[in-house]
Amino acid sequence: MFTKILIANRGEIACRVIKTAQENGIKTVAVYSDSDSKARHVRLADEAHHIGGSEASESYLCADVILDVAIRTGAEAIHPGYGFLSENAEFSEACQKAGITFIGPSADSIRSMGLKDKAKEIMSEAGVPVVPGYQGADQAPKVLQVQADAIGYPVLIKAVAGGGGKGMRLVEKSDDFISLLESCQREAKASFGNAHVLIEKYLTKPRHIEVQVFGDNFGNAVYLYERDCSLQRRHQKVVEEAPAPGMSEDMRKAMGDAAVKAAKAIGYSGAGTIEFIVDVKMGLEGAPFYFMEMNTRLQVEHPVTELITGQDLVDWQLRVAAGEPLPLVQDEIPLSGHAFEVRLYAEDPENNFMPQTGKITHFSCPEQGQYFRLDTGVQTGDEVSIYYDPMIAKLIVWSRDRDGALRQMSKAIEGTAVAGLKCNLEFLARIILHPAFRKADLDTGFIERYAKDLLPETRRADPNILALASMVELEPHRSGGDPWEFSDGWRMNLNLRTKITFVDHDEARDILVTYRENDFLLLIEETELEVKILRHDGVNLDIMVDGHKVSAKVIKDGQDFTIFHNAMVSHLHHYLAGAEGEDEDGGSGVITTPMPGKVTQIMVKDGDQVEQGQPLMVLEAMKMEHTIKAQVNGRVEGFNLSVADQVTDGEILIRIIEEEE
Ligand code: ADP
Repeated sequence: MFTKILIANRGEIACRVIKTAQENGIKTVAVYSDSDSKARHVRLADEAHHIGGSEASESYLCADVILDVAIRTGAEAIHPGYGFLSENAEFSEACQKAGITFIGPSADSIRSMGLKDKAKEIMSEAGVPVVPGYQGADQAPKVLQVQADAIGYPVLIKAVAGGGGKGMRLVEKSDDFISLLESCQREAKASFGNAHVLIEKYLTKPRHIEVQVFGDNFGNAVYLYERDCSLQRRHQKVVEEAPAPGMSEDMRKAMGDAAVKAAKAIGYSGAGTIEFIVDVKMGLEGAPFYFMEMNTRLQVEHPVTELITGQDLVDWQLRVAAGEPLPLVQDEIPLSGHAFEVRLYAEDPENNFMPQTGKITHFSCPEQGQYFRLDTGVQTGDEVSIYYDPMIAKLIVWSRDRDGALRQMSKAIEGTAVAGLKCNLEFLARIILHPAFRKADLDTGFIERYAKDLLPETRRADPNILALASMVELEPHRSGGDPWEFSDGWRMNLNLRTKITFVDHDEARDILVTYRENDFLLLIEETELEVKILRHDGVNLDIMVDGHKVSAKVIKDGQDFTIFHNAMVSHLHHYLAGAEGEDEDGGSGVITTPMPGKVTQIMVKDGDQVEQGQPLMVLEAMKMEHTIKAQVNGRVEGFNLSVADQVTDGEILIRIIEEEE
């Protein structure tokens, strides 16, 4: 076994590999880019080396630089993780030349599976069923169209070098073929430098079921059962589970044997995945399954296999790469219980899943144990940058059966909170809780079919959520802590009444608060609620609302609230009319936008002298007009807004240079 390895990756997978290496007493060398100097994988590894700029092409893809670090640090092997150099045959070869073990398959294996057309050909020859289609060398558009016509529509055009759901086009009828072919080729050329395509029959109700295989250097190969990855959005996996629901022993064996045959056909060594597409129009039992492609690396979703087999796949990888035989033979590999994985992404489902970047101001999950596992590369305070995949973490659960695992996953999601940037947590919860998902009525069209349930129209915060946020704001007053004042509308007058305004999406939500001896009376729109705080530890908040206990995680960051309640994530902003214009020192001349809106009137121009209290401009936001007034005497500087300009939250509206008295 090795004494020291280098991990040529970042994020959760680098951390994952480091963990197993350390459990085996193997020293670890991390590499990092500019923006990763404080990343979790750097903190975890025994040593870490800077390899270049933040762009992957300047760091994690620089084979020479990484090899050089390995040689300098005395690492005997390199684990490539997934992505980056993991399926790069030249890198595997270069490692070998340098006398360093590549923890992965041979360059030949990578090459033979690297292109979809060649892979299909090899598999077809080995007797593994492949999706009916055309994967010939003749790429003349007319020839391709004739082939597509012969296969029968709908067909899929796939870039042979494609990956990650890119370079695919669904064609419904012959008339559309040529233009979709051209657009597919353009994308393939731009993304992969290879415009070659193949044509495949498009299955209208398929499940994506993949088989984990493992080979060693002695010609042995086994399968570690299947994963169902049918829950996809734009051909990218969102939720994975193992085993595949409804899979019979016979079918499992048939698919497993086909996968082992595929691995043996290319003399495969190490961890690999054979992806099959299963035509479930008539159900799963006895359904035809076809080889789609082989991934010659560890997959993102490998943990679900680990949880049902009790095996550590990274440990297997290390052993095989070090020249040991496979730890178990086929009959010895256990299959127990059921596991799910969900991919928690920094993205905004309400805004077409736009990737989010920025600082994670809060990240918490339940305690890990037998039923819950967290694989992540970040913690509170870390940044999600524009340079890499915005995955924050994988939440992975296990239980004795699928229903149990579903309950565990609901619990895991409910116990998770992310603030500072938007994430897909609520979307994941909606999938897990969906009746069709619970019934395992799966196919790759699931998310699209149930989009209405999974991605409802913008949801207004319900009264409980508004009450939760209000309690966090009111608590310091009640408990006699610092009686800081909300500077507008907030005066504890004689009736002990006040108003709190939250911005909920673009809407102002007013809450009228009456202080009472033992609780608060909140008037939220037409609803009156009696509310009191039961427990608050800074994040976890339990309140009593009209005699019912409501529990949530509430993360307060300045005036911004992220509330995790009942598998719903809500974002509220506490609007403080006057104070929004002041910066922290109080009366400086910098006025920022109180909330996103539109400039409707401007009363001053650049260079004007203004006096404290003088109206400067009018903003329209939340269907209300807000007059922005000067807070100091001084001169307007660098002002360049015009009427009808849109302003975003926190943007500087106007700067007034204060006059010396
Ligand atoms: P990539 O390499 O880009 O991941 P794959 O060939 O693995 O592409 O396919 C990705 C996904 O696209 C599959 O999981 C499946 O959902 C869908 N898909 C691929 N081939 C077909 C097909 N012939 N019919 C229907 N869906 C398909």
